[in-house]
Order: sequence, then C-alpha cells, then structure tokens
Amino acid sequence: MKRDSLTPSILLVYTGGTIGMIENPETGALESFNFDHLLQSVPELKRFNCNISTYSFEPPIDSSDMEPHHWARLVRIIENNYDRYDGFVILHGTDTMAYTASAMSFMLENLGKPVILTGSQLPMGMLRTDGKENLITSIEIALAKQTDGTPMVPEVCIFFERELLRGNRTTKINAENFNAFRSFNYPSLAHSGIHIKYFPSAIRRPDTTKPLKAHYLFDTNVVVLTLFPGIQESIITSVFRVKGLKAVVMKTFGSGNAPQQPWLINLIREATARGIVIVNITQCQSGGVEMERYTTGRQLLEAGVVSGYDSTPECALAKLMFLLGHNLPVDEVCRLMCTNLAGEITINDFYHTNQ
Ligand code: ASP
Repeated sequence: MKRDSLTPSILLVYTGGTIGMIENPETGALESFNFDHLLQSVPELKRFNCNISTYSFEPPIDSSDMEPHHWARLVRIIENNYDRYDGFVILHGTDTMAYTASAMSFMLENLGKPVILTGSQLPMGMLRTDGKENLITSIEIALAKQTDGTPMVPEVCIFFERELLRGNRTTKINAENFNAFRSFNYPSLAHSGIHIKYFPSAIRRPDTTKPLKAHYLFDTNVVVLTLFPGIQESIITSVFRVKGLKAVVMKTFGSGNAPQQPWLINLIREATARGIVIVNITQCQSGGVEMERYTTGRQLLEAGVVSGYDSTPECALAKLMFLLGHNLPVDEVCRLMCTNLAGEITINDFYHTNQ
C-alpha cells in the first residue's frame, strides 16, 4: 500500500498461525497459506484511514515452531521501522503467542509505541472466523492516541476476543473457545464493545526521554519443572544435573510450597550453590508466590530459591532466558528476577481479577 507522511501508518507483520491457514483438502489438516490470501479475506482493511504496510515471514510458521531467533527477527523489524510507523500489529499463532509477547516486552526496552499481537482460533477464510474482528480491532488500538497525541497503549499487548491484555501477563487457556487468553493477575488494558474502552491507570507509560533500546540475546539453558505429589528424587537429580543448565522455573503448590522431604531441599540447596537460578512460581492460575507464608515455602527461600511472584510460567521462562542471555552474574539475574522490568510482576500487592 502507498504511504504518505501525514496519514497514520501501521506495520502489519504476518508470522503464521491459524489466522492465515487453509484446510488441506486431502488430510483435513490446517496448513499455512500466504499473506496475500489472508489480506484478500479482509477487504475492510481498505476502509481504514491509515497506511498499512505489510511484512510476511516466508514461509509463515505455526507458532509451535517459534524460537528466540524468530523473536529477534520481530524485534529487528520493529527497531528498523520504529520511526516510520505509529504502531505495529503482529499476526501470530495462538499456541506460543504468550511466550513471544513476554519475550518482546523485555527485548523492546523503553517502548513508546503499541505492539499488538493477535491471531485467531478459526482461519480468516472461514465464515465464522474470529480473525477479522481481532485484526481490525488490533489495528484500531495500534492507531489510538491520547489527547496529547501520544500513543494510547505503548506496550507489547495481546488483543483477543474483545480484551486487550498486557502481553507478559497473558496465558493461553483454551484450545476450543474464541476466548482463548486470560490475564489472571493483571486487569485488561482495554475492552472492545461498541466503543473501545481504555483503562489508562492499568497502562504503562514509558519514560519518553529515553530512546527505544532493542535487545537480542537469549540463553535457552533453562527448564520448567512442575512438582507433583510423589515426584521422585531420581527425576529431580537428573533435571538439576543436565549439562549446561543455568536456570529452573519451578512450579510449586499454592503460594509457593514444596514437599518437605530433606532430599528435595538438599538437592535444591546444592543446585543453587552451584549457581543454578531456581525461580518459584505457583501452579495456580491466579495469585502468586509468598514463600514466607508457610514452612513449606520458607524452606525453599532458605535453600536459595528466588520468588517469581505472580509471574505467568511463559513470562518467567522468557525473562530468565533474556537475563541469562546477557551473561549477567547469578546474583544480578536473581535480583532482576525480583524486579518489575516491564510490568510483568506485582511485588507487593497482587491484582486478583479472577475473570
Ligand atoms: N497451531 C496454531 C499456532 O499456534 C494455533 C493457532 O494459531 O491458533 O500457530
């Protein structure tokens, strides 16, 4: 599409996912299709009073195949085009959208423009698709300005089924319903009804004196370990002994509790003493970790485990990979895991939206 400098402009990036897929007539499986096909299904885009430029991954990928180098590619596109566009909309598969959004929230330091990820549960070409509404509203949100002309939502967000959510607070919770994402520990940034209603007090405002700083480095020597009743010593031993392992997201019970067997605490103590960062997040969808609350949590604190507060698993993992990628000393990684860098954790006072 043609661009001129006075009309607002959006860069629409297509990475793949259901939104652009088409059914294989022989197998019935959904397969990636090209961007032109997707755009042809939304003639409404021409009615926007803005310039929409497009960029497509070739070939488009299912988000199950997303890796940190794809996150870096997205961030590079945004960095290279930052001054030319009012906002960025990224079409992405839903399966790992929350990981991508979490990672990008750390990679785009001092972000001052909207980066809205969206997708759909049904392909754009299908009659009942949810993709059209998600795409059109995402563009509208990416264009929205405050009365002083600054962007309404200068954050990495996920827009899906009427809710605008902070990307690093979001989890995919449903493989069937259109309402596929939730932010359990932080309120919506906007809700789309007849009007798009923004909730300014929930939206992060950047320090406008600082320029965008893009980061690209990740270290994937991490693992997610979910505790369960009956978990065996040999399992934990082998996980903590994985060659090159640098960090563990440990999903504990309730407000951050683990079994009290001495072997478990000894293994954890021994791993943290070797410099492995162990971050405690809860298996519960809502609420966060308070290790001081019960003996079963306190023992983890004493063994060197770091609180992940009310972080989502996706965000804890992405943040760890991001921090480890910068080759920081272990103490600094632990300190930053307990620091709110991009609105990803609430340290003193949990928001319980319980939607
Ligand atoms: N498997 C698809 C993906 O994540 C699912 C979707 O887009 O909803 O790419």
